[in-house]
Amino acid sequence: MNFSSKLLEKAVNEVSQLPGIGKRTALRLVLHLLKQPTINTHHLANSLTTLVDEIKLCKQCHNISDVEICEICSAVSRNSEIICVVEDVRDVMAIENTAQYKGLYHVLGGKISPIEGIGPHNLTIESLVEKVQKGLVKEVIFALSSTIEGDTTNFYIFKQLEKYQIKTSTIARGIAVGDELEYADEVTLGRSILNRIPFENSL
Ligand SMILES: [Zn+2]
Repeated sequence: MNFSSKLLEKAVNEVSQLPGIGKRTALRLVLHLLKQPTINTHHLANSLTTLVDEIKLCKQCHNISDVEICEICSAVSRNSEIICVVEDVRDVMAIENTAQYKGLYHVLGGKISPIEGIGPHNLTIESLVEKVQKGLVKEVIFALSSTIEGDTTNFYIFKQLEKYQIKTSTIARGIAVGDELEYADEVTLGRSILNRIPFENSL
């Protein structure tokens, strides 16, 4: 691509770093931004800068949050004895949308994947085990997507928690294998949490 402007080229290169965005799409988006009132593009740039500068991870559940302890963890209406283990913030949002779950979450930040070089220590598994160790947790629900990586991660955590003799369960699957949680419809996902099954039964 031959650019008539270095500034344009730089912006296109940055935008094309985003997943699923090729150079042509990046050019289209950048030209669109140029056509907008300047203030709109400033708002976009500012919100991204503020996001990366100020976003936090909740100290308890590792979910993305504006404050040290997220709204879910600090809500007195939530049952802190039940913890639902999920991969990332999108899963928390999907489950929250069902309005069927009143426990807390634990966000792993990914799944064990040897191919991608992600081991148990790259995730927040240790802090989950610590919570259980303290004796304040009665049930851990596994709600990872049922891919090989999801199953491997569930099993690894299950083994880590086995000796503490708490209840472990997995969400019942109305969801086809390989489907990601965030794409499940709210009714199916809500039902699959209510109808969760003992983890041992899923092996
Ligand atoms: Zn939290």
